[in-house]
Amino acid sequence: METPAAEARNMETPVSAAPPVTARRIAPRSARPVGLYDLTLPELEARLRNWGAAPYRARQIWNWVYVQLAPDYAAMTNLPKDLRATLTAQLPLSTLRPLRELTADAGETVKTLYQTADGQLVETVLMLYPDRATVCVSCQVGCAVGCAFCATGLGGLTRNLTAGEMVSQVIGAARQARERGRALTNLVMMGMGEPFHNYDATMRMIGILHDPAGLNMGARRITISTSGVVPKIDALAEEPYQLNLAVSLHAPNDALRDRLAPINRRYPIRELLAACQRFIGRTGRRISFEYALMKGINDDDATARELADLLRGMLCHVNIIPLNPVDVLPFERPEAAGIERFAATLRQAGIPATVRYSRGLEIDAACGQLRAKSEALAAEADAAPISG
Ligand code: SF4
Repeated sequence: METPAAEARNMETPVSAAPPVTARRIAPRSARPVGLYDLTLPELEARLRNWGAAPYRARQIWNWVYVQLAPDYAAMTNLPKDLRATLTAQLPLSTLRPLRELTADAGETVKTLYQTADGQLVETVLMLYPDRATVCVSCQVGCAVGCAFCATGLGGLTRNLTAGEMVSQVIGAARQARERGRALTNLVMMGMGEPFHNYDATMRMIGILHDPAGLNMGARRITISTSGVVPKIDALAEEPYQLNLAVSLHAPNDALRDRLAPINRRYPIRELLAACQRFIGRTGRRISFEYALMKGINDDDATARELADLLRGMLCHVNIIPLNPVDVLPFERPEAAGIERFAATLRQAGIPATVRYSRGLEIDAACGQLRAKSEALAAEADAAPISG
């Protein structure tokens, strides 16, 4: 079981001096800049060829970006100056700007708020454990799924992130890990958004990160979390990558899941579990079921037994995640004894279960909370009279 350090001291570091942009205007996709992180290695080679540069330079750039984690083109000293100038002018390295960094859990959790080129805000969390360093990546600005207990879903979906905007979050976390003497080892798609509603960009990101000439992140170290988009579970089973799948279940019956995760009305539990069985049959890989435990909602003994009956015989594991409460939502975290009792009931019924406390509870680490708070602060600042 992973527990946050109770006495963790929080630190907030503004990364960029400029205030957050509060406008929620969305630039059309065609108007958004394409950055280097959007490109695969062959695409970068083609770009260089178009510019009249030698394609082998692409591998040098790739090494600077994904192995040495260079922060800008100026650092790439083995490239000709004119090529560096062209790259700077034509292909921004990152299209995300870090605005704010918060640390908690005695420095083991780092949450970063980024701003996109069109002024949207997204969050990324780096979690350091003794045996691994995991980045939790956002794939959308907002989310259309609208889970009842989730801050991100409150405002609906603004837009999908590009592959480059997701890769950028990963590289940012890899740099943060390296600054702390660690290497980034794992990636979970459990930040803001539903990855299966942004499937193509998510797979593109994975292809870029998986490239052995670059970050070389093994697919088995990548976990995609879905609220239950059935057709994409089947699609994922056909991908060449050995990715891990996590399914946010939160309830063992349709009546309760309809309330907590409205996507259940589209893909009810029976269809969802059938897709999970097909995924297991096709890939041979175990599925993780995520279960956000909420006091008085889905945490009683009968519900635990019903969940065990539902999952019995399936190659799976249940991650019980005591809820990170959100100020504006009427859901609470159960007491510690209730959490342990729920887990014990599952285990006694033969279902492997682990209690996983969200990292950085005290730094607004429930998905969307940092962004929501930042936007509220920015709105307050906008409303304040300007003096002088
Ligand atoms: S929990 Fe995930 S899928 Fe549900 S609304 Fe929040 S971000 Fe979307």
